[in-house]
Amino acid sequence: MTLRLYDTATREVRDFTPITPGEVGIYLCGATVQAPPHVGHLRPVIAFDVLRRWLTRRGLKVTLIRNVTDIDDKVLAKSAAAGREWWAHAALYERVFTQAYDALGVIPPTYEPRATGSVPEMVALMERLVEKGHAYTSSAGNVWFDVRSWPAYGGLTRQKIEDLSPEEGAEVSGAAADKKNPHDFALWKAPKPGEPESASWDTPYGRGRPGWHLECSAMARRYLGETFDIHGGGLDLRFPHHENEQAQSRAAGYGFAQRWMHVAWVTQAGVKMSKSLGNGLLVSELLTQAPAPVVRYALAAVQYRSMLEWAPDTLQEARTTWERLSGFVTRASERVGDVPAEEVAKAEVPEGFAAAMDDDLNVPQALAVVHEHLRAGNTALAEGSDAAVRAELVTVRAMLDVLGLDPADPQWATSTDDRYATALDALVAAELSARAQARAAKDWAASDAIRDRLAAAGIEVQDSADGARWALS
Ligand SMILES: [Zn+2]
Repeated sequence: MTLRLYDTATREVRDFTPITPGEVGIYLCGATVQAPPHVGHLRPVIAFDVLRRWLTRRGLKVTLIRNVTDIDDKVLAKSAAAGREWWAHAALYERVFTQAYDALGVIPPTYEPRATGSVPEMVALMERLVEKGHAYTSSAGNVWFDVRSWPAYGGLTRQKIEDLSPEEGAEVSGAAADKKNPHDFALWKAPKPGEPESASWDTPYGRGRPGWHLECSAMARRYLGETFDIHGGGLDLRFPHHENEQAQSRAAGYGFAQRWMHVAWVTQAGVKMSKSLGNGLLVSELLTQAPAPVVRYALAAVQYRSMLEWAPDTLQEARTTWERLSGFVTRASERVGDVPAEEVAKAEVPEGFAAAMDDDLNVPQALAVVHEHLRAGNTALAEGSDAAVRAELVTVRAMLDVLGLDPADPQWATSTDDRYATALDALVAAELSARAQARAAKDWAASDAIRDRLAAAGIEVQDSADGARWALS
C-alpha cells in the first residue's frame, strides 16, 4: 500500500515518496510566542504529531523541525505593553506552549530551533538573494524581496501578482513606502524608533531584525537541507507566509519543500477561532474542563483538512468516546494482564485502519475500524474468551497509539500521589462491598444511600457483569 497525502501546491492527493528512502524531513511552522495557546494553535501540531506517528509506524525515520518565532513585531509590542524584555516575554510563552504540547501528548520535535539562534544563516540567505538580484535594500535600511524578479511568485497559492489587491498579504509597515511593489516582503527590518537595541543584529546592510518568512526558510535549510519532504502549518499560513518562504528559498537556488500540507481551522459557529474575535478557547482552560486525552481526542478525531467546528458539546462527546475506549483497555488489562508497550509498538494494525491512514490521514475512517475492534473486544470480554480479549486489546491499543491516544500510555496516567490513590481505592472498595451486601439482601434504601454518599464525594459507580466499578466523576 502507498501512503497518499494531499499536496496544497498541486491540489491533489498524491503518492508520498521520501527523497531519501526510509527517511522523512518535515518542517512545521511553530508558535510566535507572544500569548498563551488556544485550541486553534494546537490543532496543526496534533495533526502533524499523528502524521509523524503514522510515518514512524510505517518504518520511516522522521526528522521533525518545529521552530519557535521568538522575535517578531507582536513579540516586541506585547512585551513592551507587559513591561518585560522581549526575550523574557518570548521565553515565558515558549514555556506555556511547551506545557500545552506536553499535556496533550505531543511527541517533542526532533529539534525546536528559536529564530534568534539562526541569525547568521538568515543573513547569509539574504546576502545570496541580494547577489542574485532578487532582493534590494532601501534608503530606510530595510531589505526587500523583489517579487517581480521571481516569475514563479504566487505558484503555491496559484495567484498572479497582477491579480492581488495591494493590501492582500502586503505587510503593513511604517516603512512600506520604500519598496518597489506592494507585495515585496521584508527580509530584514530596520529598527523602528523605541525598539530595544537587543532586538537588532548587524548585517552588511545595517542593523535590524529578520522578517518572519526569512526565519523559516533559513531554519528549514539549516536543519533539513536544501530540499526536504514536507512543509506544513495552519491553513492561514499558505499566503503570504509559505508563498514567500517558497519564493525566496527557490530564488536562492534551493529545492525547498517537495510537498505542502495545511491543517484547517478550528471554528466556532463557522468562524475561525482567534484571539482577535474574542472567541479563543485557551488550552489551559479546556484542561480544567476535561482530562487531557479528551481534549486531544476532540482535536484529533476530525480529518485534518476539514474545518473542526468547536460546539458546546464537542468535549462531552469526546469524553463519552474516550471513556468507552479507555474503559475497554482497563477492563481487558484487568482480565488478561498488562501488555508491554514494546509489544503494542510492534503490533500490526488492521488493514482497514492502515488503508484509512494511508488515505491522507483519514482519522474518522480509522476510528471506525477502532470501534469495530472495540465491539469485538467487549464481546470477547462478555464471553470470557481471554485469548480474543488479549488480541483485541493489543490491536486497539496499537491503533490508538498511532493517534497518540493509547489509554494505557503512561502519558495519560494521573499524577496523583500513589498513596492517596491506594487509600481511596481501599475505602471505596469497602463501600462497594457493603453496597453489594445490601443489594444481596434487597435492602435498596441502604444500597442507594451508599451510592449517593459516593456520588456526593465525586465518585461514580457503574454496575457491570464483573461487579461494580468506580471512577472519579
Ligand atoms: Zn514558518
